[in-house]
Amino acid sequence: MLTRLMLFGSSLALAGCLFAQVNAQAPGSPDWSEPFPAHRMIGNIYYVGSRGLASYLITTPNAGHILINSNLKTSVPMIRQNIEKLGFHFNDIRILLISHAHFDHDAGSAEVKKLTGNGAVYMVMEGDVDVVESGGRSDFQYGDDATLLYPAVKVNEVLHDGNEVRLGDTVLTAHKTAGHTRGCTTWTLKVTDAGKTYDVVIVGSPNVNPGYKLVNNARYPEIADDYARGFRVLQSLPCDVFLGAHGGYYGMEAKYAKLNGGGANPYIDPKGYKDYVADREQAFLTELQKQKEAAKKQ
Ligand SMILES: [Zn+2]
Repeated sequence: MLTRLMLFGSSLALAGCLFAQVNAQAPGSPDWSEPFPAHRMIGNIYYVGSRGLASYLITTPNAGHILINSNLKTSVPMIRQNIEKLGFHFNDIRILLISHAHFDHDAGSAEVKKLTGNGAVYMVMEGDVDVVESGGRSDFQYGDDATLLYPAVKVNEVLHDGNEVRLGDTVLTAHKTAGHTRGCTTWTLKVTDAGKTYDVVIVGSPNVNPGYKLVNNARYPEIADDYARGFRVLQSLPCDVFLGAHGGYYGMEAKYAKLNGGGANPYIDPKGYKDYVADREQAFLTELQKQKEAAKKQ
């Protein structure tokens, strides 16, 4: 059990978002439900997630706030507490966004909608909309696994690649980086901090989960092409501040410790972003090659 958990923890940090095959009883990693200090990361971006599942509050002075990722069904009270600890109001969430339609990032969306009295407009990238609206049932990989389903929610606005989401002075751009899911979304925005402007990238997920078929995938024939295109997109994005759907992508815990130590803001990490994208692309290409060779032998 311990070995299994440790293995899971380390692979999670590396690849993020690995679940179904590891523990069908209680999918996910224990740190997904572990509290983590809510904090201002940079500019108007606040971390309001758990230790293992990132959730971001992007605030505006007068127009309300944007929440990225509702996480697990059970995560919402913790996200709410985190928002309130920071002095903001959960009811001021005007827009709800996600990294991608997997239960560790979107299962809490029904609860967020309910608690904001339907005040939060739920915007989801094309490709992930039917998954969200079917509570995970139409997911190409996990739709048949009852342990991974969650409350279905109606999407209020369908996003397309390159769409902008505006609230007050804040403008987020939705980049479709599909493969991990059909509507996997990488968010970008500019923030100002101490008089300087920075490009922020919130990576949706470039990871190939265990069991994903990249070759001859009848339920998602274009999966490998989507991943390849997604890497081109990630490589093209200017990035000063590197964030993602799981803190493990960008070493959130270590960076948070440094943030508290003063000095330069550790979330500003353009090299970390480049290295991460290169590493994940290599992992994708290696897996693709392996699956192509296995398919040839059949
Ligand atoms: Zn995922």
